[in-house]
Amino acid sequence: MTAEIVEYATNPTASSTAFPPQRVASGVGWGDREHLMLVSYATFSRDTQGRQYAERPHPYRGPFQRDRDRILHASAFRRLAGKMQVFTGDMGDYHRTRLTHTFEVASIARTIARVLRLNEDLTEALGLMHDIGHPPYGHCGEDVLDACLADVGGFSHNQFALTIAEELEQRASGPLGLNLSAEVLAGQDDRAHKAERAEGASAALEVQVVDLADSIAYDAADVDDALQMGLLTLQDLSRLRIVARALGRLNTRQGHLPPPQVRPALVHELVEMQVTDLLESASRCLLPWAGRTAEELQQAGIRLGHSPELASEREELETFLFSRVYRHPRLVAVRQAAADRLATLFESLLRAPQRLPLRFRMRIERVGTRRAIGEYLGGMTDRFCDVQYERLRSGDGPLADW
Ligand code: MG
Repeated sequence: MTAEIVEYATNPTASSTAFPPQRVASGVGWGDREHLMLVSYATFSRDTQGRQYAERPHPYRGPFQRDRDRILHASAFRRLAGKMQVFTGDMGDYHRTRLTHTFEVASIARTIARVLRLNEDLTEALGLMHDIGHPPYGHCGEDVLDACLADVGGFSHNQFALTIAEELEQRASGPLGLNLSAEVLAGQDDRAHKAERAEGASAALEVQVVDLADSIAYDAADVDDALQMGLLTLQDLSRLRIVARALGRLNTRQGHLPPPQVRPALVHELVEMQVTDLLESASRCLLPWAGRTAEELQQAGIRLGHSPELASEREELETFLFSRVYRHPRLVAVRQAAADRLATLFESLLRAPQRLPLRFRMRIERVGTRRAIGEYLGGMTDRFCDVQYERLRSGDGPLADW
């Protein structure tokens, strides 16, 4: 019997009515499940550094499951539905929003974590959280806020995700913040400082998996969305090595595809090829570390990645997407208008901070005026930002809270 079983069997909150007796009798709790399923260098719930505010263990959900659920139920998570990934809402409704991108990342990351026998709950929590701090209007919105906050440390969506999780979200009970496990906060902090932490000790493998799943998801999705919107043609793309290889594999396996099937088949193949390559490289990299702990691998600076061939193909694809999609005249015009609205909102609120909603006026004392305005604007959805922009120009009362 493991320590976790003792913990939940003696947990005073676990009543026999709330918890099926056969589950207690069979003793398959989250601690046992991890013990049976995970590899030695996964992040185990039993080793968690805990939460800022101590909480009783839950009778049948492990700590990282609870973190995942808290993120899923957070208002900032729901607002991802109204935040653009690459394309705005007025460009159709086929393409990804920040929310559907997040689910794709969490799904790919979980698949990878399951095959590598890492902690799926932690991976999923990190996947769902990874873009929760994104401001309106995608990276263009982030650039505007970063410039507006340059004197007070700038703005990064990865850092803002931590502010949301630790200071802004209101749960049903307890102080402000989601009171997440230290490992989830540390994983998000690693994302926020990725560039500085490119050498030396590495992040937990679950954190690395989410990072890799993020780029696999957006590369494939951007190809899909751009093709559907007519910003690219299959002919343009087939000059790229990774696309040519994917089309070649499809042709060998399935023969000539009817035209409507080509795009979804290509996107599926791109994800499949990248995940398979990553799993093969990761398995080779991790093989000598069998029996070692997560801490030992992090200290040794073990970093997962694609094979050199696929990494080079991905680089070619990303360079192409950058010049042909992200800088497409249709997108540049939309982005410029959005950037102007956000910058105007910021400057106007800086001149008249009394127009901030009460919650953010109260934040001024704690974080300063610029940061409080940045937090208010950073939490908005695209449409909410548009509405507040109109409200700012047409009236003189406080703007709405999100
Ligand atoms: Mg992302």
